[in-house]
Amino acid sequence: MIEHWIAGARTAGSGDPQARSAPVFDPATGREQSRVALASTADVDAAVAAAKSAAGAWGDSSLARRTKVLFSFRDLLERHEDELARIVTSEHGKVLDDARGEVQRGREVVEFACGIPQLLKGAYSDQVSTGVDAFGFRLPLGVVAGISPFNFPVMVPAWMHPIAIACGNAFVLKPSERDPSASLRIAELYAEAGLPDGVFNVVHGDKAAVDALLDHPDVAAVSFVGSTPVARYVHSRASAAGKRVQALGGAKNHAVVLPDADVANAARQIAAAAYGSAGQRCMAISVAVAVGDVADALVQALRDEARRIRVGPGSDPASEMGPVVTAQARERVVGYVGRAEEAGARLTVDGRTLEQPGAAAGGYFVGPTLIDGVTPSMEAYRDEIFGPVLAVVRVDTAQDAIDLVNASPYGNGAAIFTGSGGAAREFTRRTQIGMIGVNVPIPVPMAYHSFGGWKDSLFGDVHVHGPEGVAFYTRAKAVTSRWPDAASAMAAEAPSLSFPNAT
Ligand code: NAD
Repeated sequence: MIEHWIAGARTAGSGDPQARSAPVFDPATGREQSRVALASTADVDAAVAAAKSAAGAWGDSSLARRTKVLFSFRDLLERHEDELARIVTSEHGKVLDDARGEVQRGREVVEFACGIPQLLKGAYSDQVSTGVDAFGFRLPLGVVAGISPFNFPVMVPAWMHPIAIACGNAFVLKPSERDPSASLRIAELYAEAGLPDGVFNVVHGDKAAVDALLDHPDVAAVSFVGSTPVARYVHSRASAAGKRVQALGGAKNHAVVLPDADVANAARQIAAAAYGSAGQRCMAISVAVAVGDVADALVQALRDEARRIRVGPGSDPASEMGPVVTAQARERVVGYVGRAEEAGARLTVDGRTLEQPGAAAGGYFVGPTLIDGVTPSMEAYRDEIFGPVLAVVRVDTAQDAIDLVNASPYGNGAAIFTGSGGAAREFTRRTQIGMIGVNVPIPVPMAYHSFGGWKDSLFGDVHVHGPEGVAFYTRAKAVTSRWPDAASAMAAEAPSLSFPNAT
């Protein structure tokens, strides 16, 4: 049984006779490999109580102490990179190299958090009035919670916990129940790095655990990453409970290819972004927008790229793309492909009947799929499919492409492939999108910038990690201070009843 991590130790939970658990599968074989405990409200209460009792001392600990722990944790992540990647591959299905990449991108946030003394430096104004100084600084919130999706079981939680902890908070993580094991290993590495018990806790679970966190009076803030309907729900329920919330949702990311683009390069990049991790990335490209007469050449090049990809178990170094995460995910993806064909789109590459050595029967494999002639009214265009399916939409002009991108309710990422700086600049400025790639298909910001989409891809005011992450996990205090010299006339001056003005 994959257990919770509360107050520095593994625990099966409250011992509730109604205790629930869920299966965890190996997506490459379809075999149930373990079960994960699903937290009850009592288990969530225990985790929040552990965090609350640790938060005070941790929030008061020196910046030197906090950075020492973070530097050690960073080194442990590097040393255990391969082990963490193997855990991710065994439960998520992505290929090992991709899993290693996710561990590295998560570690970069820890590296950013190691600079917390610099990031938390306040501002000081001398002599704002005669003998009066003003300064501001930021304090931790207390207990904060993170709720994460299945598709990046190491990196997405790492967008949250290193910064929250560096800022002096205690953290309760509710990872995805589909690939829960990596979070437990992260908890052990934090403990080995010297983090006090209770500062980082993990509760596994489903909606019941999420609701308990959203409603808990001792949780000051919630970071959520997942699908749009759940993000919207989390934002509204946690906001109603008076919490600070950032809730990142789903995506439908477009890659626009202009006629002046290097088509072979664009196709290579777009195929990698569409089919990497079997399309299960919030920054995956799921729509290629072919502008003008580039369309036929682009579709041909994309077809060649899609057919070339080696699909197989994530643990096989020869595989470039693994399975999708569950049998239900496979069914969903296959259903979308079938209905797209019925709606009149052309299946240029059909991944439903994958014949590749290594892609074993029983595993949740779907091959790279390319659908041409998709229109904005089709379900395959509108919905986030979250699988290795790339839709091609043909438009006449660059302005049509911008209009198409802006009409989408999602606003996570978009890319443009072009040789024209002017066209790229126009696209960058005019699109209602949080993260733009110029000749770059997956424009994920580095840890020292912030990550987040617009529109239905993010509910809340601030993005994750980077400077906005530090702002999210702290609140500001402003101090106005006078230390009159006992001998000065100021000390004898009677306070005025008027609103203070600078004199
Ligand atoms: P999901 O929304 O199903 O689950 C996310 C988390 O919410 C999980 O921890 C899950 O246990 C919990 N949850 C699920 N249903 C719930 C409910 N009804 N009430 C309360 N909690 C619930 O998402 P997923 O399938 O795990 O992940 C894929 C989704 O995440 C995709 O839509 C993808 O685009 C999105 N995503 C977005 C970003 C981003 O940065 N915007 C990053 C990664 C993934």
